[in-house]
Amino acid sequence: MNLTVHTQPSYEIIIESGCLSQIGTRAKALLPAAERAVLVTDTNVAPLYVETVRCALEAAGFRTSVSVFPAGEQSKNLASISSLYTAFAEAELTRTDFAVALGGGVCGDMTGFAAATWLRGIPFIQLPTTLLSQVDSSVGGKTGVDLPEGKNLVGAFHQPALVLIDPETLTTLPAAYFADGMGEVIKYGCIRDKALFDRLAAEDCRGWLSEMIYTCVDIKRQVVERDEHDTGERAVLNFGHTLGHALERVQHYGGLSHGKAVGIGMLLITQIGEKAGLTEAGTAEKIAVVLQKYGLPTTCAETLEVLLPATAHDKKSSGSSVNLIFLKNIGTSFIRKVPRAELPALCGVQP
Ligand code: NAD
Ligand code: MG
Repeated sequence: MNLTVHTQPSYEIIIESGCLSQIGTRAKALLPAAERAVLVTDTNVAPLYVETVRCALEAAGFRTSVSVFPAGEQSKNLASISSLYTAFAEAELTRTDFAVALGGGVCGDMTGFAAATWLRGIPFIQLPTTLLSQVDSSVGGKTGVDLPEGKNLVGAFHQPALVLIDPETLTTLPAAYFADGMGEVIKYGCIRDKALFDRLAAEDCRGWLSEMIYTCVDIKRQVVERDEHDTGERAVLNFGHTLGHALERVQHYGGLSHGKAVGIGMLLITQIGEKAGLTEAGTAEKIAVVLQKYGLPTTCAETLEVLLPATAHDKKSSGSSVNLIFLKNIGTSFIRKVPRAELPALCGVQP
């Protein structure tokens, strides 16, 4: 299954079992002037898939070097970017050469940022190997790293030259990370696609994985095409994220994982929407059932009294207001700019 994302520049997304091994021929066709590639991956993914990808690149004639970083979010920092620049320099990457990100969202965000800034921008190819990176982070061109002061504070928009999604790589992904990605999958159903949501509720997604990934990527594609630089509509992708991020923050990023926190965030904002008459009654309950089905929690110890102050740091805030994403019902979402002062009343808590 193929999709084309019409951004500046446009690029193809291929979703196909075994497509990792096509990287060489596809890169050759896409980047005919390229001679060298740096393949970036982490310590978990390297032993699983590096050889397939490296062999495919070398068979197509690219001089390929591999740069491996320690797996995990704690690697997503400027020190790692510095190491990538060293790897690019040693490989003598020129403007016509390219980088390849083989791994999850951490690898894609870092490799993309290094590629966006090396020689003021070289092409990079995404080979996402987690469910989250396949349905979300590998598409849309957001790249960057964390600072001690906060997540994703430094970054650039840099669209990939190509995205190859091989659903077979998910067979080695630990269940907890698969569930994490399902948080974002359920999000797409909630904001845009009732049919996707209903199918997730009715059938086990493992039976139609490629189709599920395709549906999610296609929704992200449409949203990104209409708002490439995240100044408007792209905010709907943040459904569940304002309170989800707040939850991750109050737990000092050592508690619930992102997908789990977003699941609870989706539930909380939908319960708030129902109470405020913005969301059809019974919507939160439907979301709770699907979250549970895919191993995501539906409750947390933290109350809204604790979470609301922590939303002040949300990236989607604009000064004295916060952009909240509500559902009208399953499949229909809208953005509402709420003045901070009105937030407690809307959420039914004491200011
Ligand atoms: P991750 O990259 O850390 O991968 C999760 C874990 O799975 C890691 O331990 C990794 O080594 C392992 N792994 C990856 N693929 C595997 C496979 N096929 N088999 C076995 N193990 C495998 O995390 P993630 O959840 O993929 O991504 C999270 C990151 O993505 C965060 O930094 C987040 O900020 C970012 N993100 C970016 C965007 C964007 O638009 N750029 C969107 C959403 C999230
Ligand atoms: Mg997310």
